[in-house]
Amino acid sequence: MTRALFDEALDAAREWYGRDPVLQDFVTWPGELDFVARPAHPLPVIPHLQEHPGAATQQTRRLRDALVALAPHVEWRHTYTEDEVGADFLQRYGWFELAGPDGHFRSDALRMTVGYWGAGLFYPWHVHAPEELYTVVSGQALFESEGDEPGVLGAGQTRFHESLQPHALTTSKAPVLTLVYWRGEGLAEAPRLGAA
Ligand code: ZN
Repeated sequence: MTRALFDEALDAAREWYGRDPVLQDFVTWPGELDFVARPAHPLPVIPHLQEHPGAATQQTRRLRDALVALAPHVEWRHTYTEDEVGADFLQRYGWFELAGPDGHFRSDALRMTVGYWGAGLFYPWHVHAPEELYTVVSGQALFESEGDEPGVLGAGQTRFHESLQPHALTTSKAPVLTLVYWRGEGLAEAPRLGAA
């Protein structure tokens, strides 16, 4: 049963990928993704995501609903400490790797993570070596990145961060649920907080 929830989330992500040239230009969807049985790691973020998933569009609703249904079964992670981001942030934030070197579906060619932030959170400036492409599944957030115009993005919109480009994310009244595609060197490394 649980496996079906993973398959549905992956299929919903692939459906979006199939209709969005921005995603297709960024990564090539691998021919085969092997499912890996990883134990669930629940975090306090789960009920927040379930109760406040954020507004979807007709195009993103399938993926949003699939991720909400899948939420109790995934290996949630925090990466950051309370000293770095605060206790409230850790209550209402979490991410997991849907596919990738260390994901629920194994791939060395593609990394896809899912991240959720409740309303009224500031994800501080950080950098990482891989390039990433954010896709907003539901809700909305202010995206800031050095050298770019800030932008409030809602469901169905995307935002690219180049390698080592500092960026930050802020939610106000709405939460945000994102699916993030990664490519390049250092896919398994954690982001570093700080602007440089
Ligand atoms: Zn990032």
